[in-house]
Amino acid sequence: MKSINKAMEISAQTTRNVLQKTSISLAAALLALLASFVAGPNAALAAAPQHHDQQAGFYRLRVGDLEVTALYDGTGVFDPHWLNGTKETMEGVVKALHADPHTLDVVDMGFLVNTGKQLILVDAGAGTWWGGGALGRLAGSLRSAGYTPEEVDIVLVTHLHSDHVGGLTTQDGNRVFPNADVYVAKAESDFWLSPEIAAKAPKDAQPFFQSAQAIAAPYIRAGKWHTFNGSEPMVDGMQLVPLPGHTPGHTGYEFSSKGQKILFWGDIVHAQRVQLQHPEVTAIFDIDQTAAATTRNQLLARLARENVLIATPHTSLFPALGRLHKEGSGYSWAPVVFTDQWDER
Ligand SMILES: [Zn+2]
Repeated sequence: MKSINKAMEISAQTTRNVLQKTSISLAAALLALLASFVAGPNAALAAAPQHHDQQAGFYRLRVGDLEVTALYDGTGVFDPHWLNGTKETMEGVVKALHADPHTLDVVDMGFLVNTGKQLILVDAGAGTWWGGGALGRLAGSLRSAGYTPEEVDIVLVTHLHSDHVGGLTTQDGNRVFPNADVYVAKAESDFWLSPEIAAKAPKDAQPFFQSAQAIAAPYIRAGKWHTFNGSEPMVDGMQLVPLPGHTPGHTGYEFSSKGQKILFWGDIVHAQRVQLQHPEVTAIFDIDQTAAATTRNQLLARLARENVLIATPHTSLFPALGRLHKEGSGYSWAPVVFTDQWDER
């Protein structure tokens, strides 16, 4: 009797389970059907909204004992009319732009070197001085990388174009890096900060002079604006590399540590996908076109030969670090590939 009861109990339980399962799968089927009416077949029940913000832009790597952090300032479009090349080369550029309108897009970057003793910024991005709002992220990238502008001890400036120094100063004339000493080549400072030279400059060059003067002013007032002639030791393990042409005092900074080197080369290249294959192509911003091309030709050859790590403010590839390889009559770029790992060696 007991066992019959048990058997009936089990059978009732099984029936309940089956019914339950059936009703669950029936409900799921109904919901899926409903969803397909609302959003089309195979759509998720609720569409995930798109997100259009990006991750903050910094990337660090080790160079000997140095921690080098590439700091993203923004991305801009480079106009092909800003390039001077042969008819044939420029036709190639136009063709490349037809295939890919982003061929000449460039990032703007600054770089932070933590030597363990000093925090050194090389170029400061555009701040609010380049217009358009596509640039000026550097201070945010610096914070994302775990530092504050107040911690920066030294700013080394490759040249005084506002996409490299705009980030130093706010529009109302305040220093963004209040504790930093700024270093720039004397030839560079004398050129852009001279009212006489500015007065004689063509009209479309005037904004470059005005911004350089406004950006430098609060550092000069605070006694934090320093110029060098080319040989003074300013930072241990750092060598000045004069690279005149783009601007009169355009300067690279080469850091060495434990046999490794990195060169912050400023505006040696603007349109990477053109000028590495055609180093003779200049930019209309080059104050001395001939000198700019000569400097580029000599430097690219040396860097490819010595396999030096290069930090470039303008490239189409974040994090804007890489090496040069000789390729045909020009060079190819071997980029440092982004990784979220720190080299612990
Ligand atoms: Zn530039």
